[in-house]
Amino acid sequence: MPATHTPPAALRPYLTEAHEQLWAEADKFATSQVAPRLPRMEAAPHAVERELPELMARQGWFGVTIPQAFGGMRAGHVAKTVLIHRLAVVSAAAAAILQATLIPVGALHHWGTAEQMERWFPQVARGAALLAIAVTEPRAGGHLGGIETTAERSGDGWVITGEKVHIGNSHLAHLHVVIARTAATGVTASEALTAFLVEHDRGGLTVAPHRAKLGLHGFSAGRLILDKVRIPAANVLGEVGQGLYVAQSSSILYGRPNLTAVSLGIHEALVATTAHFLDNRPRYGGHLSDQPVVRDRLGEMQGRFQTALTTTYSAVHLLDSRLPCDSELIGAKHTGHQLAARTARDAMELHGAQALDTDYQLQRFFRDIQHTHPPAGTGEFQRIHLANTALGTPHIQWSERLAAEASWTHPDPTPA
Ligand SMILES: Cc1cc2nc3c(=O)[nH]c(=O)nc-3n(C[C@H](O)[C@H](O)[C@H](O)COP(=O)(O)OP(=O)(O)OC[C@H]3O[C@@H](n4cnc5c(N)ncnc54)[C@H](O)[C@@H]3O)c2cc1C
Repeated sequence: MPATHTPPAALRPYLTEAHEQLWAEADKFATSQVAPRLPRMEAAPHAVERELPELMARQGWFGVTIPQAFGGMRAGHVAKTVLIHRLAVVSAAAAAILQATLIPVGALHHWGTAEQMERWFPQVARGAALLAIAVTEPRAGGHLGGIETTAERSGDGWVITGEKVHIGNSHLAHLHVVIARTAATGVTASEALTAFLVEHDRGGLTVAPHRAKLGLHGFSAGRLILDKVRIPAANVLGEVGQGLYVAQSSSILYGRPNLTAVSLGIHEALVATTAHFLDNRPRYGGHLSDQPVVRDRLGEMQGRFQTALTTTYSAVHLLDSRLPCDSELIGAKHTGHQLAARTARDAMELHGAQALDTDYQLQRFFRDIQHTHPPAGTGEFQRIHLANTALGTPHIQWSERLAAEASWTHPDPTPA
């Protein structure tokens, strides 16, 4: 997949010179560092990729939204999207590794104390520590009110017991943001949950062996077992009882746009791969791309990709501009995945039997795109939010509330 290095003109309203430079850097990195490692990652779905996160850490990319005072890039949400999108064109697994740490970075940003940020952000920014966010449970799934992991007060700290599943970067993280129940069953989720910082080497915390998934080979989304893990009171993130808000706001402001960028990268790769195939496959003295019916389907794919592209960048641009945009972030994630999944099906069909060759990259895109539906809200949950918007049902606008509280998290409006 040839990297473009230059963003399309449709993105000019959203990109600064600094963003364009980052785009070129990410493309170069994807071509020179990620692409050569892909065959190894694809051939070993049971292995966790450890080299790429180290290389990305050296680029300083885990600190893309971290303030400069803590050694980060303070480059904002559009910059974060550029990095994830450009990596995902070459490898959705590499992009998934980057984005999974950037969600808890967001949680720490908005809910952490000065001491917590001082302790963790410099390490993340220089790549000495990665983070993970652990919300999902075997029985609760996307229903946060059903969380069964408990945290009980003990002395001047807490004891956490429970199990978390599908946790992105579970095997790489040095710190897990764990959402646990701190009030009795029956208390509403908006008061019953609390977020905690759990260091990976705390006694009682185990990460189950990595299991291969359908796609995203190399990315670990594993199981954490918390067996009476003791942590000090200083490890509470936000206030006791604010865990739902920590999880929700991180998912809407960071998780959704991150997964949108992953699906966008896969979408771009699907269209480019299919166009190349059709333009080179001989038929009737010309090529398959000469056939009107085939061109029509390719045109449909390109149209979907263009819609996803502008929807993605316009949503994160609103976020960087400190405008209320929860609904746009949610809509971009939903539409981005849906459109890319339809393009994946078209791409498979247009390739005929070649689509089924396991050593051809198309089936990797087809598998990987299945992974952008469940995280940061399944399609059903996005549509529940979007219907609320349509009906004017009041809900918290996290983009508005947290942007106002933490204006220092946003990029300098006059970048070099
Ligand atoms: C690549 C990847 C990375 C992930 N990273 C993380 C991570 O870092 N941290 C983390 O905590 N989790 C992570 N997850 C887990 C993800 O957040 C969950 O998969 C998601 O919340 C859905 O939960 P579930 O899979 O258990 O599905 P369930 O919640 O069991 O839902 C199953 C199906 O039922 C539907 N459904 C459920 N409830 C309703 C309802 N009330 N109305 C209508 N439909 C409903 C869902 O939409 C879905 O289609 C990741 C998952 C993936 C695939």
